[in-house]
Amino acid sequence: MTAPRLTFATFSNIINGEPRCSNKTTFSVDPSTERRLWDVPVATTQDVEDAVQSANDAFKAWSTTPFEQRVSKIAQWKQLYEQYIEEFTQLLMAECGKPRSIAAGEANEILALFEHNLGLRIPEERIEDDSRVIITRHVPVGVVAAICPWNFPLVLSVGKVIPALLTGCSIIVKPSPFTPYSALKMVELAQKVFPPGVVQAIGGDELIGPALVNHPRVNKISFTGSSATGKRIMASAAATLKRVTLELGGNDPAIVYPDVDIEKTAPEVVQGCFVFSGQVCVATKRVYVHESIYELFLKAMVDAASRIEVGKADSPSTTMGPMQNKIQYEKVQELVADSQAQGYKFALTPRPIAFDKGYYLSPSIVDNPPLTARIVVEEQFGPIVPVLKWSDEADVIACANGTTSGLGASVWTADASRAERVGRQMQAGSVFLNSWAKTTPRAMLSGHKESGIGGEWGSTGILEYCNTQAMHIFK
Ligand code: NAD
Repeated sequence: MTAPRLTFATFSNIINGEPRCSNKTTFSVDPSTERRLWDVPVATTQDVEDAVQSANDAFKAWSTTPFEQRVSKIAQWKQLYEQYIEEFTQLLMAECGKPRSIAAGEANEILALFEHNLGLRIPEERIEDDSRVIITRHVPVGVVAAICPWNFPLVLSVGKVIPALLTGCSIIVKPSPFTPYSALKMVELAQKVFPPGVVQAIGGDELIGPALVNHPRVNKISFTGSSATGKRIMASAAATLKRVTLELGGNDPAIVYPDVDIEKTAPEVVQGCFVFSGQVCVATKRVYVHESIYELFLKAMVDAASRIEVGKADSPSTTMGPMQNKIQYEKVQELVADSQAQGYKFALTPRPIAFDKGYYLSPSIVDNPPLTARIVVEEQFGPIVPVLKWSDEADVIACANGTTSGLGASVWTADASRAERVGRQMQAGSVFLNSWAKTTPRAMLSGHKESGIGGEWGSTGILEYCNTQAMHIFK
């Protein structure tokens, strides 16, 4: 007998292995049309308590389940997921406004996350001298709360769940209220494999995140979101000395040298700025171009950005969908308006979009605004980018590093040794040489400065879900 297929038309919180409704519901909207999407329950204080209790109960058995059995359960979850990649792709198109290629990219990235993590082992070190053997081991930290943003709701939740489960932690996913659907469904799918309480999901409103952060029986917060929220979380977590991993905002610079192939490089840089409407943590947010090629490069960027087809997520010709939510849409419009009010020159002005509904903004490029401009200093997280002129290498490196952010950076030059020399001077967690930010689960994703604490993915990201123990065995 085959198991009934999941339905993608109802969505619940998942507590202690069961779907949990609530008297209060909320919903999100499809940003392409502003159409109301499905109802989701708003978790109550009791729901938070029940989820934390269940996670603590489940932790006892899950953390002592042999590692290979945990791996096998995660592999079963992956197999189930493989049957639903198209459904998850459609969900991401609806909840995020992602064009099909980007939504499918996110849905397929989940397979890469599974594959990478399934190949990991928790390291153990053994050293010995005349008097003792020291075994350094990594034990699961306990109950984890995964607090997630709206831009990659599936990758950035599953990217926390798999390593937590691998190490023996139990985990409660708290999706963003803007994009709750794919994460809730993924956790529902997990119930077919894992014992109750090992992986749960609760969402609904803005009270649940703080309730999890403040809860004395939650041991660790793995957070991805804005630097402002990250600071609040760290302050609250101090009360219980919770472990935190903070993956926060950025203001990623790209430095372009005069030896690049302009026609080839400018469209790539444009892609790095405007992929998913610039709503990517490691999107390029400032472009520094050498003065000797500035005009030509800027023109090539404008040409490439003008070819971007802004439209509904489900239209085959769309290469850039809407902004994901109204608040972000208005914030970016406000930055455009500020640049216009300050009299900055636009190399590419936002053009009107012919839809009555939806949060559409076409790409725009600001031509060499002052270094103190808001569009240079702030994380825009939308489809507007400043292009700035440079002449001296030491100066441009200082400018690139001269912010409180340190998430990503890119360097573009035909000279490979220069690329690496400059790349090594970037104060950023991820540095891309002759590429825009193409992340992979195989590399650690982390932020320097106010872009984060700790990191995830890569070969050592799982250790963020562990406490380290040194065991001294005397002879
Ligand atoms: P956000 O900080 O507004 O919200 C993120 C999550 O935190 C949501 O689930 C929200 O409900 C919850 N939250 C809000 N206040 C909270 C509080 N006081 N306590 C606990 N939880 C709370 O971020 P966002 O707007 O959803 O995401 C966009 C931001 O995320 C951008 O700054 C982007 O750069 C950043 N981001 C970073 C990475 C990375 O890997 N570094 C990846 C994606 C996004």
